[in-house]
Amino acid sequence: MSEEISHESESPGKVVNITIDDGPDPVWTPKVLDLLRRSNVKATFCMIGPRAKEYPSLVKKVVADGHRLCDHSMDHNTAMDKRPESYQASQILDAQKLIEEAAGDGTKVRYYRAPGGAFTPYSRKVAAAHGMRPLGWQVDSRDWQRPGTARIVANVKREVADGPTILFHDAGGDRSQTLAAMEETLPWLKQQGYGFSFPKI
Ligand SMILES: [Zn+2]
Repeated sequence: MSEEISHESESPGKVVNITIDDGPDPVWTPKVLDLLRRSNVKATFCMIGPRAKEYPSLVKKVVADGHRLCDHSMDHNTAMDKRPESYQASQILDAQKLIEEAAGDGTKVRYYRAPGGAFTPYSRKVAAAHGMRPLGWQVDSRDWQRPGTARIVANVKREVADGPTILFHDAGGDRSQTLAAMEETLPWLKQQGYGFSFPKI
């Protein structure tokens, strides 16, 4: 597996990869899953290890609905690239173990996304050596700032030409703006002729 950060989609043509970070969350993840199901869109969920351990039924639901799992570390330390290699390895591998245990049935975590994009060459190597493709993004909805639904939608529309992977969040506080923005964005993407796929592994 490549240690390079995945910036592509595994499907050819005009597609986007919806990625949803920082969960699972007992309030917002079910709402996001419901929206994705109604929209017939598959996504990649980048999960925090302890949250996966706390809400295993949500992890199983994500998998059962056909979405993919991504390791988003144990503690979401956006400065983990400044920490020793042993710390980076445990942040990645402990979270992988918790997410895979929560998913059960031999389900594998397919990607690793460093919190805040704080990758290092070492962390990319560790992730790839354990079956997880490092995963980046090109379209930052900036939903985490809660700038208002219209602004989140506009951010996606403006940046979607930059690349296929779009970043949203289903945890970290009130995500009603994210949900409303996704309700608008997914049909708009379809109208523009985009399909939905997964990041290249
Ligand atoms: Zn995050």
